[in-house]
Amino acid sequence: MLGSTGSIGVSTLDVVARHPERFHVVALTAHSNVERVVEQAIQFQPRYVVMVDAKRAQQVRERLAARALGVNMAKNTEVLSGVDALCEVAALPEVDVVMAAIVGAAGLLPTLSAVRAGKRILLANKESLVMGGEFFMRAVQESGAELLPVDSEHNAIFQCMPAKVQTGLENAGVARILLTGSGGPFRNTPLAQLPAVTPAQACAHPNWSMGRKISVDSATMMNKGLEFIEACLLFNARPDQVEVVVHPQSVIHSMVEYLDGSVLAQMGNPDMRTPIAHALGWPERIRSGVPLLDLIKVAQLHFEAPDEARFPCLRQAKSAALVGGWAPIALNAANEVAVDAFLNEKIRFTDIANLIDGVLQGMTASTIEGIECILAVDQEARRSACQALERLRR
Ligand code: NAD
Ligand code: MG
Repeated sequence: MLGSTGSIGVSTLDVVARHPERFHVVALTAHSNVERVVEQAIQFQPRYVVMVDAKRAQQVRERLAARALGVNMAKNTEVLSGVDALCEVAALPEVDVVMAAIVGAAGLLPTLSAVRAGKRILLANKESLVMGGEFFMRAVQESGAELLPVDSEHNAIFQCMPAKVQTGLENAGVARILLTGSGGPFRNTPLAQLPAVTPAQACAHPNWSMGRKISVDSATMMNKGLEFIEACLLFNARPDQVEVVVHPQSVIHSMVEYLDGSVLAQMGNPDMRTPIAHALGWPERIRSGVPLLDLIKVAQLHFEAPDEARFPCLRQAKSAALVGGWAPIALNAANEVAVDAFLNEKIRFTDIANLIDGVLQGMTASTIEGIECILAVDQEARRSACQALERLRR
């Protein structure tokens, strides 16, 4: 479990706990939430807990030791720290399945470690795929790893696709992928009010409860942009074969349209435990704890085209998908810096897209040959985004 204390991590452990005969947790990893990871360690008794920094790892050790005096103990749990330890636990021989649920670029190296070890990877951490691009997909093919999408849209597309999509969509009889998105909390907010919206308003998603970074991405629709790139990579689709459709109810999670005009949709309540359980159980079906869908109560499904004037980040991501290589890496890095600044009230909501535009325009095109190139472009874009932030604050 890479990122066990986050929104996806907690939902995953909720599903895992429903199937004690099926799953055993080998390792939990987290960044800062000591309390939560200690509770999880006591409940799931993993062999390892990994914290990103050593100080927090020591806190976890002390709390587990204190708790070991009581009835519930995690006495066989070893607590490690550092990025290398994250990569090591993702590649352990006793691990069959890795849930990649770290947020942002920090997930790239641990996820790649699981890929190289040929694991079955349940991919929530879309940023690692957006950054890794073709290089990431080649590594999957070379190692024989299995990549199962957890992002609800891609999980839906996967469920609606014929098996052999990696040979190209046309060969599989597919005309288009219809990628749905709710439009977020500001779909109908007057444009003039957008500069003044607060982080709390941006994080109040109408349908989904998620971590703060992806919530802001949903409000700018950069989330859909990253998912656009993710869909092209996962399903070997060209950008012109993916169409974004705004669907405010979040009941249809995405669709696949075939050459004969058939459109297959995957539906369900907006609860991440459904795609998580699908990926955990695949190819079997297991219970997720999600209530069955009440279509009578839903009553209406509504669709509209995305408004690119309202959501410039969607346009930025689509252009980055066309350029490929360095562009999605820079887009993702600039977005991470901008979203963090917005969440810390250093810039306005509408500055997010402006900042990304500035970074993308200032980048020099480069070819991506390996992980070093990926990390170098990421760093260059972050530096440029931080400089732009300084200028904005002055
Ligand atoms: P979150 O912020 O709730 O949790 C993030 C997790 O990553 C936490 O466990 C945290 O400890 C860990 N983490 C944070 N920074 C880290 C670092 N520097 N090094 C190592 N670990 C670190 O985020 P989330 O909403 O659970 O999202 C996780 C990923 O899943 C994101 O990539 C997101 O885009 C994707 N995703 C989330 C949802 C959702 O509903 N929440 C849906 C689809 C995809
Ligand atoms: Mg999604």
